[in-house]
Amino acid sequence: MPVIAEIDSSLTLDPADVERKVSSRTKAIIVVHMRGISADLDPLLAVARKHDLKVIEDVAQANGGMYRGRMLGSMGDVGCFSLQQSKVITTGEGGMLVTDDEETWQRAVLYHDGAGYQFRFIDRKIPAFPGQNYRLTELQAALSLGQLTKLTEMLERTQKNKAQLVQRLRGQEKIELSPVFGTERDLGVSLIFYTADAESARLAAQAITAEGIPAFQVYDETATDQHIYINWEFLVRKQDAWGGSYPWNSPIYGGNVEYSRATCPRSLDLLSRAVQIHLNHLVTEQDLEDLVAVVSKVADHLL
Ligand SMILES: *Cc1c(COP(=O)(O)O)cnc(C)c1O
Repeated sequence: MPVIAEIDSSLTLDPADVERKVSSRTKAIIVVHMRGISADLDPLLAVARKHDLKVIEDVAQANGGMYRGRMLGSMGDVGCFSLQQSKVITTGEGGMLVTDDEETWQRAVLYHDGAGYQFRFIDRKIPAFPGQNYRLTELQAALSLGQLTKLTEMLERTQKNKAQLVQRLRGQEKIELSPVFGTERDLGVSLIFYTADAESARLAAQAITAEGIPAFQVYDETATDQHIYINWEFLVRKQDAWGGSYPWNSPIYGGNVEYSRATCPRSLDLLSRAVQIHLNHLVTEQDLEDLVAVVSKVADHLL
């Protein structure tokens, strides 16, 4: 049964709120490295150690990212990577899971390839269960190796660009940037800044878009962006895939967890004031000039 915790201005989990929401029934923390930003892992891992919880790192949006010199996905018990179309590197569809725990690895192998498990392991650590056959094809795997060879160079470029952008926008008083933006913890695949209120973010996104640079308000109340927990209709209504309400109505696992605007008001406020512009490794010097000029113009005259 998921419990939702607040994020801070880095767009990743607030370790203090996570600890506040740990109960005797908590099993694991899912840490999402959002929009290319590494979550603050040291305090999160400390909370996990203190309460004996597993840590799952969701690296889907931060493939290749680092935290204090260590690779994302290597610090939790499990690291999950996506190679879906919209991610840092892609094979069209697909993903990866990394772990240094033999049992977890065998469970993952069996889950993703029900038949393969039967002959793959001589030394079985777990009893067989029905797998789901979520196999990556050999062709996609080959493609991912080709993509991997480009990753370092791509990220060097995006990180350098982002550091420059952040440095040049820090002087702009009308907008706010998280202290982690433009640092080692930022892959530079997006530019996000915060305005004073939601209406300003909406107007700023519209104006920047009108200047020819696509921008959007991260949490727009009139949209149903699935990156925002309040738009997870099934969660708010506690609905499972079979017309029931499992696990919320389960006598064993169920319980009184609420998912409403009041669950994470700080996150919704932050995201409603956030304006996002997508970046990638193809951004040029001229694009950077244009970005700084347009954001500054909008901040100076509209905010
Ligand atoms: C894309 C994404 C996923 C899902 O990845 P798939 O490869 O589509 O399963 C999970 N978490 C985050 C944060 C994502 O951006």
